[in-house]
Amino acid sequence: MTCQELRLVDFVDGLLDAESHAAVAVHLRECPTCAARVEALSETRGLLQQAEPITASPQFERRLETRLRRDDLKREGLKLLALGLAAVAALLRLPSAMWWDAS
Ligand SMILES: [Zn+2]
Repeated sequence: MTCQELRLVDFVDGLLDAESHAAVAVHLRECPTCAARVEALSETRGLLQQAEPITASPQFERRLETRLRRDDLKREGLKLLALGLAAVAALLRLPSAMWWDAS
């Protein structure tokens, strides 16, 4: 098993089946790089578990929805602008195409 094939996060989280867990454990005894990664992941996991949960402010959801709607409107506005520019470009080509057909 190569270093790239290891699922170290799953190992730290205890999500591997017994066979995979044993294979990673064997690899960690032979590979100081992966052993250091597992140690760092374990420390990070521990810090995250100690962190206080973050509660969003009561206005957060309302502000988020407002912003998402505004972004949707901007996207729709850009689509309309592109459509308008395409229509103008088509109109500008129309007279020359008519002249070309007439000759
Ligand atoms: Zn390794």
